[in-house]
Amino acid sequence: MSEKLYEVLKRASLFLDEYNRESKVAEILLQHHLRISRSEFFMKMQDPVPSSVIERFEKDLQLHAETGIPVQHLTGNEMFYGRKFQVNNHVLIPRPETEELVLHIIELVKKKYTENPITIVDIGTGSGVIAITLALELPQATVYATDISSEALSIAKNNADRLKANVHFLQGDFAQPLIDENIQADIIVSNPPYIAESEKAAMDDTVKNFDPALALFADEEGLAAYRRIIQQAPKVLKRQAQIAFEIGYKQSADIQEIIMQRFPTAEVRCLKDINGKDRIVSARIF
Ligand code: GLN
Repeated sequence: MSEKLYEVLKRASLFLDEYNRESKVAEILLQHHLRISRSEFFMKMQDPVPSSVIERFEKDLQLHAETGIPVQHLTGNEMFYGRKFQVNNHVLIPRPETEELVLHIIELVKKKYTENPITIVDIGTGSGVIAITLALELPQATVYATDISSEALSIAKNNADRLKANVHFLQGDFAQPLIDENIQADIIVSNPPYIAESEKAAMDDTVKNFDPALALFADEEGLAAYRRIIQQAPKVLKRQAQIAFEIGYKQSADIQEIIMQRFPTAEVRCLKDINGKDRIVSARIF
């Protein structure tokens, strides 16, 4: 007699509990192995699960429990702003906080630029979530995205193709390829690496052992990428422009200062995330 879905799920949740891992992973993984939608999954709780599926599911479950490999690396995808993006170990797994950065840009564009054409550049695009979402949500925007990693760019391009987003991808160091191409942007957006190496020891194993170090860590107490982008920014921005960064929650004052040093007349503000932590620094440049 094969087991019912809810029984398999219950056993998996208990198993994850023993390893102090989130039980929600069991749902995501089992749904992935059954190849059904989330709503179907919850309707099929009483249905029997084929033993071949249970076997594959439990193998992945054990791998996650023992090694901390993120469930997104096992399923190969993560949702961002309501869309499914492909991910692997060459790109940062998109985080919900970054959706707020995207929302901030969308609101700003709708208010300040209404329907006018604009150019947006996403620096360090990783899986491409920011650039692709902006291209899809803001049809008047021409969107460029850079990354130093060719492996990341190939994932980003794949995501753009699958989601039918028109993004121009360029490889290179932060804004350098945009400077080389003489691109003048209205908006720079970036979620650069911002964690100091000294914080590594305290980090969760699913993050520090699996998200690429290039996407997580930066020198100068985690501020090096912001300094580099701000140093390059005058060559990329139009006279009136906006810069919006995702930041580490303790970095707001430092990053505001980095911006003010280069753009003394900028209007800089900090926005908080859903958890009430400083998460975005956004600057109007004149
Ligand atoms: N821009 C990508 C994201 O927000 C990648 C960021 C990164 O690798 N630091 O998910």
